[in-house]
Amino acid sequence: MKHIDIAAVLQDKTLLGSKVTVCGWVRTARDSAAVAFLELTDGTSFTRLQVVVDKEKLALDPECTKCGASVTATGIVVRAFKGEGAELNAESVTLLGKCPGDYPIQKKRTTLDFLRTIPHLRLRTNTFSAVFRVRSVAAQAIHRYFHAHRFYYVHTPLITASDCEGAGEMFRVTTQPWNAGYESEEEYFREDFFGRKAGLSVSGQLEGEVAAMALGRIYTFGPSFRAENSNTTRHLAEFWHVEPEIAFAQLPEVMEVAEEMIKYVVRAVLEECPAEMDFFERFTEKGLKDKLHNIVESSFAVLEYTDAIELLKKADVKFQFPVEWGCDLQTEHEKYITEQVYKKPVFVINYPKEIKSFYMKQNADGRTVAATDLLVPGIGEIIGGSEREADPDKLLAAMQARGMDLAAYEQYLDLRKFGTAPHGGFGLGFDRFVMYVTGMENIRDVVLFPRTVKNIM
Ligand code: ATP
Ligand code: MN
Repeated sequence: MKHIDIAAVLQDKTLLGSKVTVCGWVRTARDSAAVAFLELTDGTSFTRLQVVVDKEKLALDPECTKCGASVTATGIVVRAFKGEGAELNAESVTLLGKCPGDYPIQKKRTTLDFLRTIPHLRLRTNTFSAVFRVRSVAAQAIHRYFHAHRFYYVHTPLITASDCEGAGEMFRVTTQPWNAGYESEEEYFREDFFGRKAGLSVSGQLEGEVAAMALGRIYTFGPSFRAENSNTTRHLAEFWHVEPEIAFAQLPEVMEVAEEMIKYVVRAVLEECPAEMDFFERFTEKGLKDKLHNIVESSFAVLEYTDAIELLKKADVKFQFPVEWGCDLQTEHEKYITEQVYKKPVFVINYPKEIKSFYMKQNADGRTVAATDLLVPGIGEIIGGSEREADPDKLLAAMQARGMDLAAYEQYLDLRKFGTAPHGGFGLGFDRFVMYVTGMENIRDVVLFPRTVKNIM
């Protein structure tokens, strides 16, 4: 159907006075005997186009005034009665699809909880359409950032045989039902599609390292899967993961890339989605825009894990989880550090080796590794990264200490055998990042169809 985008009608001043055809859904309608006003959206812009129908000249199908109906309208673009934009003086309005009165998305604001029960329709609200426009702009900006800094985009496998970090967190991939006739698990898996146990990848990092050791700088941007039984507002079973890996980089350079990338993407969102950001400022988080401008303009804080523990011990707050050197930081601790103390993003660095993964670079102190988590107000951790252990002997020792199956990591160990080099990288939870820039408080509200424990719609 030949038509032009509503975004173009609203923005392109050269269209004033000319005749155009638009298509869209009616968001609201005001109807009187003499005149009707239809507000149309076609998804191309946050702002809607007002279509003015002079009912003395034009017979209007009453179905065209129902919220949710889809219509096409032809008319002359004129300066809006209010504001700077444009509106359409209709010469014809044709119904494309009617929308009955039980349409759940009415003008009145409903709750996010309710909207979660209708994931196929909730995108039609202001809130969700704004979230997904921002999500798209942010994803594009991530690709642009890496491309401009000569990172190659690699596609790591989603089906994997290595149970890397995610002990117990991996979804199995199988084509066969359980059959009690098998003598052992091993025999069972031998009969399976791949001839061994396989699952959905929790991270593309190990394969990303393979690529970085040849291409220098790489990143992945795709789904990761975690069967973690944590029913929180920041965990999904399927989430989008951005994982750069940088050859010849040590921890400070890894952090530099993380900070630069975040600032780049935040700037892009502020510039490219002004109407959406105004909306979020009003309806989801007061002060959101100031928060994001501050991100772009100031530097992130850096805090040694050991100092973080001291700070938490001195805190005048009763934490649910006790704090001792060696403990993992819980969300409540992360939030205290970033919301109460620093009030901005904080890189916590050099964690105890016991609570971090085998592949992280062992520091000279013998008790910490060169790892970093980036914590942000409102969410907690959005990035986990590290310098990787490049010394084959130290890596082997760390794996043995954890009782890992070395045979399964032969290829990974080869990276240290053949031309090992310092390198590092991080993983950004893209959905958490979208929460951060939109002010949405539940990760289920920034993905189309969230997958969480006991929930797949
Ligand atoms: P958390 O402690 O919050 O569960 P993690 O330490 O297990 O996260 P990492 O393995 O470091 O997470 O993964 C890197 C990033 O991926 C995290 O910082 C986070 O932003 C994101 N992430 C991890 N697990 C999930 C999940 N289940 N849902 C959404 N994002 C996730
Ligand atoms: Mn982490």
